[in-house]
Amino acid sequence: MNIKVIAFDADDTLWVNEPYFQETERKFCELLEDYLPHHTVSQELFKTEIGNLGLYGYGVKGFMLSMIETALRVSENTLNVEVLEKSLQYGKELLEKPIELLDGVEEVLQALKGKYQLVVATKGDLLDQERKLMKSGLENYFHHIEIMSDKQQRDYQKLLKHLDIAPDEFLMLGNSLKSDVLPVLEIGGHAIHIPYHTTWAHEKIEHHVEHKNFRHVQTIRDVLPFLL
Ligand SMILES: [Mg+2]
Repeated sequence: MNIKVIAFDADDTLWVNEPYFQETERKFCELLEDYLPHHTVSQELFKTEIGNLGLYGYGVKGFMLSMIETALRVSENTLNVEVLEKSLQYGKELLEKPIELLDGVEEVLQALKGKYQLVVATKGDLLDQERKLMKSGLENYFHHIEIMSDKQQRDYQKLLKHLDIAPDEFLMLGNSLKSDVLPVLEIGGHAIHIPYHTTWAHEKIEHHVEHKNFRHVQTIRDVLPFLL
């Protein structure tokens, strides 16, 4: 491997994220229990989120607007304003969650720093992701932070152009096969999948990935033998 730059996904690769969203969703569904069963509200929220992705992009603010839109629809505009107030409050709480680094992250960054250019490549709200990175205490390990509106092939191509490297000099590490692995392999880069115990339905793909530039590991520490 001729790797020069290693890019890390952030949410559920460097730190805990999806469980916080799931906890918020659970509380939101409880708010609407009088209108529809939990599971149905959850499905309706997912539908709204996916429908709004093109308009709002990824991140907490879009999620908050989707909660409000779902609440209005599910209640046929009859809801108590308290539901709106609570939805906003839950969203703000999500923005203020502490950063919980995943096991082994700091050790791996320490081992790789100086040997490669380390980069963060993440989706989400700009301000939220910047704040999370600052709170994480990991900023100094990284040469560059890329907060992407999406993680499709053209988004990675833009990043490579900015970093001025060839695709086969780029390695992406992340928990989403759909966002962190497949588009990178498709443009000729390398990717390592580090699964997290829970994944947002939108990031799930069923098929099995086989590629010469692809590896699957169990934990972030397992990437070190390939890279040192
Ligand atoms: Mg992730």
